[in-house]
Amino acid sequence: MVSDGRREQNIRLIIEMEDRIAQCKRCKSLLSCIRKPSMGKGDLEPDIILIFENESQTAQDPEKLLELRELIKSEFNTSKIYHTFMVRCQPKACAIRSNTSCYLENNKLIDRDYKCLLSGKSCEGIPVKPADDNIIRCLPFLLEELEILDPRTVILFGDRVSDFVLKTYGIFEEFNTGDAFYDSTGRLFITVSSQEEFNIEEYHKLRDNILIAENPD
Ligand code: SF4
Repeated sequence: MVSDGRREQNIRLIIEMEDRIAQCKRCKSLLSCIRKPSMGKGDLEPDIILIFENESQTAQDPEKLLELRELIKSEFNTSKIYHTFMVRCQPKACAIRSNTSCYLENNKLIDRDYKCLLSGKSCEGIPVKPADDNIIRCLPFLLEELEILDPRTVILFGDRVSDFVLKTYGIFEEFNTGDAFYDSTGRLFITVSSQEEFNIEEYHKLRDNILIAENPD
């Protein structure tokens, strides 16, 4: 059983890491059109961590995220679930910004009410997938989060998340959705499709993999 001291330590370390994420400027081009980076949420002594590529998928469908968490909670008999993101700053495609003077590059172009300073209207940027270099710059935060929270099981949503995270942990094997892998410490990683494509059959495969991992004999 994990002590209260451990929980307090996790809270302190996560807050300290989130402060650094909030100050991070490694991907200058992504910062103009976001108010704040996406942070992980959930139990701070989790059994299971769900990793999504970036927040756009979940923010667009918070009900599905809730449904997914409830499904995993009830079937695996744990309420200790946490979810987080491989890239914290949501990239956006925007015609207004791309037609703007380069003098405005790297400046905040969105106000506290999410209004665009160039158009005076609500931000019309279209969320797009992060580039590989954004993923590589942001991965250290994810690894730090996993080390702090130390879950038994990590569920990787989508091929890009699976590919980057598995390789980061030294796992270079080919994978399909629903596959299970272990790192050198015995932590279980399960690859699933992206949150939008995740379905009940895949979910059963995921559950079987977790049960096999917990009862190897
Ligand atoms: S995406 Fe990650 S690495 Fe890039 S600026 Fe945001 S927090 Fe920093």
